[in-house]
Amino acid sequence: AMTIGIIGGGQLGRMLAMAAARLNFRTIILEPQADCPAAQTANRQIVAAYDDPAALAELAKACDVVTYEFENVPVSAAEALARNVPVYPPPKALEVAQDRLVEKRFINECGIPTARFHAVDSQSELDKALKDFGGQGVLKTRRLGYDGKGQKVFRSAADSAQGAYAALGGVPLILESFVAFEREISVIAARAANGSVVAYDAAQNVHRNGILHTSTVPASISQATATAAHQAAEAILSSLGYVGVIGIEFFVLADGSLIANEMAPRVHNSGHWTEAACVVSQFEQHVRAVGGLPLGSAERHSECVMQNLIGDDILSLPEWLKRRNTFVHLYGKTESRPGRKMGHVTVLTGKA
Ligand code: ATP
Ligand code: MG
Ligand code: MG
Repeated sequence: AMTIGIIGGGQLGRMLAMAAARLNFRTIILEPQADCPAAQTANRQIVAAYDDPAALAELAKACDVVTYEFENVPVSAAEALARNVPVYPPPKALEVAQDRLVEKRFINECGIPTARFHAVDSQSELDKALKDFGGQGVLKTRRLGYDGKGQKVFRSAADSAQGAYAALGGVPLILESFVAFEREISVIAARAANGSVVAYDAAQNVHRNGILHTSTVPASISQATATAAHQAAEAILSSLGYVGVIGIEFFVLADGSLIANEMAPRVHNSGHWTEAACVVSQFEQHVRAVGGLPLGSAERHSECVMQNLIGDDILSLPEWLKRRNTFVHLYGKTESRPGRKMGHVTVLTGKA
């Protein structure tokens, strides 16, 4: 059987390995933490750092193709691998998605609007950038932020920016203009090596404490907005010569127009609903794309709401298990901590 290597051993790797097994692929994960969610579903684990040269050589040798489940895979590791084995999505996608400044420039080059932005490398640059945006904006670390970490919001000129550069670690930052959006949506799309693209219906996302709380499908958007979101996804995928699944987040303005927020070159939390409401999930779609199989239909048979089980949310598991039309997915994490994603549920709320 063909073997797929997966860099990263979290819940996304766990679900990719499950989808791969169903299509007769073997999986090997590269993950330094031995007791990780993906270890329970993959065929094999190489326990080593993501940039360990010997481990990368072993992975390249043992696999027919290598993919990844998180966007902070060292680009140098992905490029080293790519010299010996196909790496999908292409390492260029990692390069773009790892740095919010590079990402916004790239998205704009694809003809898609983002929030306005300034690179911020000092307190004085922050003061200047904030002034340009009338004292409002969202300050973010350029790299390594997730679940709203590494961010500071300035709601008005009355919010003091004093010490904010140092407070975010003295690292390269980006100040984005504050987008007064009406709602947030995301599109999960996939591209195959032959250039064919499929896209799932957009999900409407609600965050709680900076972490995705629910994804609802269909989103409350017009057909025109839905089409624009799919076209934006297609433009990004083709520009990157992409192979695999991508998740792209957008803000929707009152007039229905779209502002791209960020992209994740991997399966995405806001696409977990696809395993319950579509015949071919985002996980299977990714496996098909990187494994060289034809893409499946992204059609949806149901309306649904996906809800993350975060930290102590897991205590309500017994109730979720009793609920009708409810798809429960747990990540095999034994210890619950605040903010930790323990699993998710998707409630089918009606026929599509
Ligand atoms: P994720 O966990 O999705 O990767 P993240 O830490 O990368 O999140 P962002 O998606 O950039 O962070 O921002 C988190 C949330 O903060 C957004 O979903 C949105 O609600 C809000 N937000 C981010 N940027 C802006 C902005 N420029 N204007 C208004 N709200 C914003
Ligand atoms: Mg992000
Ligand atoms: Mg986000």
